[in-house]
Amino acid sequence: MDIITVYYIVMYVFVFLFGICIGSFLNVCIYRLPINESLTKKNSHCMTCGTPIRKRDLIPIVSWCCLRGKCHACGARISPRYTVVEALNGVLYLVVFMLNDIVSPVRLLHAALVSLMFSALIVVFFMDWDTQLINLYVVLFIAIVAIPEMLFCERATGVDIRSHIIGAFVVSIPLLILSKASHEKAMGMGDVYLMAAGGLFLGIQGVLIAMLIALLSGSVCGIIIKYATSSSKFAFGPYLSIGIAIAALWGGQLGDLYMRLTGLEEILNESAEMAMLLM
Ligand SMILES: [Zn+2]
Repeated sequence: MDIITVYYIVMYVFVFLFGICIGSFLNVCIYRLPINESLTKKNSHCMTCGTPIRKRDLIPIVSWCCLRGKCHACGARISPRYTVVEALNGVLYLVVFMLNDIVSPVRLLHAALVSLMFSALIVVFFMDWDTQLINLYVVLFIAIVAIPEMLFCERATGVDIRSHIIGAFVVSIPLLILSKASHEKAMGMGDVYLMAAGGLFLGIQGVLIAMLIALLSGSVCGIIIKYATSSSKFAFGPYLSIGIAIAALWGGQLGDLYMRLTGLEEILNESAEMAMLLM
């Protein structure tokens, strides 16, 4: 095995293990942020009997499997969602790092920043699903992560600073108008802020693709949920999160595909040729 192969293997194992540990912390965020409980002070405890969780039962994924999904003190069922969130974060980190050529420092930075945004999106997804609320600190975190992405990652993404800045407004402003016009019934302010932060990270093309995916998946799932549960409660945040995540991974390819399918590419090429002729 050459040194590069070893580097990749070590890196991927580290990224996955790091991902599931962060996933464990995301569970704490998902359950404690809505009830304003401190993220750091109190130890984790069983939701049924309140018994503190033993140190050796804090290993992500492994502990839940060893305990067969039950509290060691009272035997109450521990939701498999804790493990799903941990595994999801680990797998997403791994996918991000595998899709980027992490030998180049810029791509490594880009992969790390996308991973951090994905963790925030997982929190948005589950919190909004549970409570119909998007926590603004989590959205602010995405906006902060977007700044180094905007300043240093152009060589990895091909998205320039101008596109990042316009991206912050191109979807969020129409959503803001929709939200204000409907007195936050059609769209919450949380969704508006989320698309501003996501747009700053992704740039114009990425945020448009994210919105398109959110609208498509949201309307399909919304109809299914409405028929299945006859509940009209609907959180849009989960679909926006999925849209932003897919755009961050494959935005470039999806954009090119869309251009080709709609013939936009040809029109743009022709107008570019025309402009060249006129000059
Ligand atoms: Zn218990």
